[in-house]
Amino acid sequence: MDFTDKIVLVTGASRGIGRACARMFAEHGARVAVHYHASRAAAETTLAALAGSGHLLVQADIANPAEVQAMVSTVIEQMGGLHVLVNNAGIYEKRPVAGLTYEGWLDTWNKNIQTNLLGAANAAFCAAQHMIAHGGGRIVNVSSRGAFRGEPDSPAYGAAKAGMNAMSQSLAKALAPYGIIVTAVAPGWVDTDMAAEHLAERADEMRAQSPLERIARPEEVAYTVLFLASEGVEFLTGAIVDINGASYLRT
Ligand code: NAD
Repeated sequence: MDFTDKIVLVTGASRGIGRACARMFAEHGARVAVHYHASRAAAETTLAALAGSGHLLVQADIANPAEVQAMVSTVIEQMGGLHVLVNNAGIYEKRPVAGLTYEGWLDTWNKNIQTNLLGAANAAFCAAQHMIAHGGGRIVNVSSRGAFRGEPDSPAYGAAKAGMNAMSQSLAKALAPYGIIVTAVAPGWVDTDMAAEHLAERADEMRAQSPLERIARPEEVAYTVLFLASEGVEFLTGAIVDINGASYLRT
């Protein structure tokens, strides 16, 4: 996988899967736009760990449409283009239906849709405008096993990720004529800060979900993201790739 001369925007790259993606793209020759929301210091740590040069830090609240548009424009203007967008930024909140107030329910749905679905949709739109005008590109969306398996503790999260899957497939069809390849990955549990609280409560049960008896490492998700962004996988457009260690097998 060679990303020499490629410009890659990874959202939510201050930590976790996004940081692993940023590092791996840079190791494979890309110039990387490291997007972050509030954690500038952590994003700077990501930036400092990147191989090569010509990388950029870019700030935006992914739930804010104007900031998303400015983020994509900044990358294009300051880096000279955009070849790959990785829509990775996301939130997970445990919000079981039982015991939740109506206000709490509305709040979690709004946050999940704004951040996990609309943020990615808006970034995809803005990136696609540039890619359409410049001969194509790649969009890889970081979805979740929960879109398929169900998310009893966070129905809004499962629905937002299912929406992301449907969006990925619609965009794969709409954008193929422009040379834009759109895919998604659907990880099960991954060892990041997002999973930390749950690991503290029920690590054994989470590991036992996979016959590999562990959860995924962020680098394993990053490796698949790079693969989907690489040359030669064009006919995978529209694919949603499970990264769940056989914990949930869909047919
Ligand atoms: P993480 O919490 O470590 O990272 C999430 C990133 O998204 C952070 O950098 C955060 O700043 C960013 N982000 C959140 N809200 C934002 C906003 N409003 N604006 C801009 N950035 C924002 O978690 P992670 O595990 O690295 O998650 C990355 C992606 O992988 C998410 O989309 C998540 O849903 C997905 N995922 C994670 C797991 C898991 O078990 N960790 C499983 C399946 C899918």
